[in-house]
Amino acid sequence: MKENIFEIENLKCAYSKRPEIEKRVLDIEHLNIPKGKMVFFVGPSGIGKSTILEVLGFMNDTVVSVDKFLYKGNDVSRVWLDWNDDRLSEFRNKEFSFIFQDNNLMPNFTAYENVMITAMFQGKDRETAFFETKQILKDLNVPYEQDRSIRYYSGGQRQRLAFARAILPDFNVLFGDEPTGNLDKGSAENVTRILQSKVRERNVTAIIVSHDMRLAEKYADMIVQIQRKERKMGDNSDHYGCINDNGIFCKDDNGWYDQTKKRYTDEEFLKKLEGAL
Ligand code: ADP
Ligand code: MG
Repeated sequence: MKENIFEIENLKCAYSKRPEIEKRVLDIEHLNIPKGKMVFFVGPSGIGKSTILEVLGFMNDTVVSVDKFLYKGNDVSRVWLDWNDDRLSEFRNKEFSFIFQDNNLMPNFTAYENVMITAMFQGKDRETAFFETKQILKDLNVPYEQDRSIRYYSGGQRQRLAFARAILPDFNVLFGDEPTGNLDKGSAENVTRILQSKVRERNVTAIIVSHDMRLAEKYADMIVQIQRKERKMGDNSDHYGCINDNGIFCKDDNGWYDQTKKRYTDEEFLKKLEGAL
């Protein structure tokens, strides 16, 4: 049977603890994320992509109501109420890895120190972490002189360092918020290919937010297109993000299909994704 890493029913998010519709930013009607897959979240700017990533990674407590929220089959709907900060960070450190939108590297440290730190936090010895860092920097095509400060790396190189730092430690879910946003097409593909091989090799899950539909179509096993839900407030009209079966697409050996089992050629599917932006 297919194992899900996350199972969610009727989860509503707002950046204020008041549950009224005008405050809502995201509404997940139904979402199961299978273990061991590459999952991409796509949708226009401001629709709630970063929010969903932060909710799944227990990085923000914007959840105002939820019917079901399971991680590895365990109820996690109450972690923000029942767990203290130490327990939350220990859990995140053990289970998750993050690539943030702004790379969050430490400016006064070398590239090596930045990349090695999370793996060493987890108890990896210095020598192993050093060796693996050298290898991944080589694979990612970034300079790997040992004493080079982070200041001498370009935006794209820093983004690859943040990727290296996230992929080196053990994790069950890797979250990436636009992890290839500053990269050219070739580098973006290289990074995503490396991620895909880790995901396959370790049977872990990657959950990636991206604007790059071609990249998503090529490397994802599942794409979640966040839908635009209109809300009317007097004369004003506004919208928020909604995740339901209409926006969930999966890929098997025969290509892409939606939740009604309708199939698409890769070209049709790409058009559908790009048309929604
Ligand atoms: P995306 O990543 O798709 O661009 P976000 O998840 O960042 O979208 O934002 C979704 C909505 O939530 C937007 O309307 C945004 O203005 C709002 N939002 C995001 N972060 C905050 C915050 N810290 N406080 C209040 N509103 C926020
Ligand atoms: Mg965002």
